[in-house]
Amino acid sequence: MSIDLHTHTTASDGALSPAALLARAHDNGVTTLAITDHDTVAAYSELGSEADFGLNLVCGIELSCRWAGIEVHIVGLNIDPRSGAVKCAASNQRLARTRRAEHIASKLRQAGFGDILESVIELAGGASIGRPHFAQHLVDMEYVKDTRQAFRKHLGGNKLGNLKQFWPELKQIVDWISGAGGTAVLAHPSHYKLTHTKLRALVEDFIGAGGTGIEVVSGRQIPTVTAQLRDLASSHKLLASCGSDFHRPGAHWADVGGCEPLPDVCRPVWDTW
Ligand code: AMP
Ligand code: MN
Ligand code: MN
Ligand code: MN
Repeated sequence: MSIDLHTHTTASDGALSPAALLARAHDNGVTTLAITDHDTVAAYSELGSEADFGLNLVCGIELSCRWAGIEVHIVGLNIDPRSGAVKCAASNQRLARTRRAEHIASKLRQAGFGDILESVIELAGGASIGRPHFAQHLVDMEYVKDTRQAFRKHLGGNKLGNLKQFWPELKQIVDWISGAGGTAVLAHPSHYKLTHTKLRALVEDFIGAGGTGIEVVSGRQIPTVTAQLRDLASSHKLLASCGSDFHRPGAHWADVGGCEPLPDVCRPVWDTW
């Protein structure tokens, strides 16, 4: 049994179409899959509801929000993609992404990169527009050698293209997921580079906001991190989730279905569905 509850498609910043992702998941032996595109459930409309996918498909979304001045990602699992709450979340986040893209483009223009907004919008091709599209454009224009460098020099950390003020607060995101009948899961907790104390504070605020799950396993993760997250989940009585955060074949993190199983002591998030 292989379960992957965090993946991306061309509806956001993934390289595979929803159908191609399903085929790859199936080939890799995945039995339960959630597509969790950034701030959109468009992949699910593209797939339709009647098809036999050959695996158990759980409807999901990954929502960006703000917490204590940093950007945090919350995965909503087992949501109803047609609910008012999801529609509200998706349209709100789409607007936030558009505004953010305008501001990033403006910052880059001031820094001498020219007018790139139209090209980036075209590159996104209707998908949920994000920094990876900016990164790709900077690579195409040969301003940087690869997307990693684009993030390091211009789009990540404290660089000019990393703007967080457009995202809603954590509580709003958890409310949308709860309103859609889903389980809110704190995504890739080790990516935020927080101290133990700060991570505990995030977890406690997340629980206070109504969150009930945490990714104990995210992509290729070292065993000591998994052990820390397992203990954090246990001590805070959080449900445990696992996902590859797959974006494209050949990337350095896990392939779809490629992450380690959850530690035995964890209570899996799917126990409650
Ligand atoms: P956004 O959704 O616009 O905030 O962009 C964040 C996305 O960019 C993440 O979901 C990753 O897919 C990607 N990303 C973040 N950091 C990096 C990096 N250092 N190199 C390449 N891609 C990255
Ligand atoms: Mn992404
Ligand atoms: Mn994320
Ligand atoms: Mn993700």
